[in-house]
Amino acid sequence: MNYKEEIERLKKEKNAVILAHFYQIPEIQQCADFVGDSLALAQKAAATNADIIVFAGVHFMAETAKILNPTKKVLIPDMDAGCSLADSCPTNEFRLFKAQHPNHTVISYINCTAEIKAETDIICTSSNAQAIVNSLPKDEKIIFAPDKNLGAYLQRVTGREMLIWDGSCIVHHEFSEVEIAKLKEKHPGCKIIAHPECSSYLLQHADFIGSTKALLDYAQSDDAQTFIVATEIGILYNMEQAAPNKKFIAAPVVSTCTACQSCPYMKMNTLEKLYNCLKNEAPELFMDEKLRQKALIPIERMLDISKKANL
Ligand code: 13P
Ligand code: SF4
Repeated sequence: MNYKEEIERLKKEKNAVILAHFYQIPEIQQCADFVGDSLALAQKAAATNADIIVFAGVHFMAETAKILNPTKKVLIPDMDAGCSLADSCPTNEFRLFKAQHPNHTVISYINCTAEIKAETDIICTSSNAQAIVNSLPKDEKIIFAPDKNLGAYLQRVTGREMLIWDGSCIVHHEFSEVEIAKLKEKHPGCKIIAHPECSSYLLQHADFIGSTKALLDYAQSDDAQTFIVATEIGILYNMEQAAPNKKFIAAPVVSTCTACQSCPYMKMNTLEKLYNCLKNEAPELFMDEKLRQKALIPIERMLDISKKANL
C-alpha cells in the first residue's frame, strides 16, 4: 500500500486537512497541509474550512483544535499520544494550588489538558509567552503552569515574579550541560540554540532561545554554519531541509539513552495510523460542551494578544 498516495486521495475525498507539528516524523510532515509550532497550528485549526481536521501531534493539540473549531470532526492518529508536561499538572491538585493563592492571574502553557485550560485566565505558547506576560499590568500577581522551565525563563526575561507549577517535559529536561560543552569545543564557532522548555542550567549557555519555529528561522538566517539544537529531534529534519549546507547536531542528553531527544508521544503517530485514522474517521476527539466553552476563553485571549503583537 502506498500510504502517501492513499492519504492524499482520502484528504481530497473527505475535504480533510492534516496539521502536523515539527516533531512529527518526516513522512507525516510530507503528507501535511501545514507544519508548524503550537501557536501556528492553533491559528490554522481555528481558521480552517475543511470538514475534518487530522491533528498529527499530541492530545492537547487536538483538544485545542476541537475547542477552537467545534463543528469540525477532529481526528488524531493515536489517542494515547499524550504529553508528560500536560500529565504533570493534575486538575484537582492544580485547583487546590489556585485556591491557596487567590487574586492571581493564571497563565498556562498550551501544553496542558482542557481541564487546566478551563482553570486558566490566559493560555500561551512558547512563541508568545513573553508577550502574554508583558500584556499584564506590572503589579498583577501571576501563577504560571505547568512548565517550571518556561516559567523560570519568563521570570528572567520579563523580570516578573511568578508562582510556578513544578512540571516539566521529559524530553527538554534531559539535555547534558557537560556533553554540550564538550561538543561546543569540538565545533568552534557553532551556536547553541534551545527551546525554553529546557532547564535553566542549559538555557544559560544558549546563543538563542525560542519556539520551534523561532529556532528554525534563526538557524536559517544566522551566519553560523553549525548548530547544537536543544529541542526534540524532529525539528532537525526541517532545519536540514531549510538550510541544507549547514550542520545541525542534536544536543546530547544526560543519560546514555540515544533516543531521549525524541518525544515518545509525538512518535506514537505513524504513517499507517495516519492513513487508518483518515480512512475510518477514528479515533475522533469529543469534548464536553461546558468544558469546551470554559477552555475557549483563555485560548481566545491568547489569540487576541498574539494578533495585536503580530505573532
Ligand atoms: P512549540 O511548538 O511552541 O515550539 O512547543 C514545542 C512543544 O513542546 C510541543 O509539544
Ligand atoms: Fe510534551 Fe515534551 Fe513531547 Fe512536547 S516534547 S509533546 S512537551 S512530552
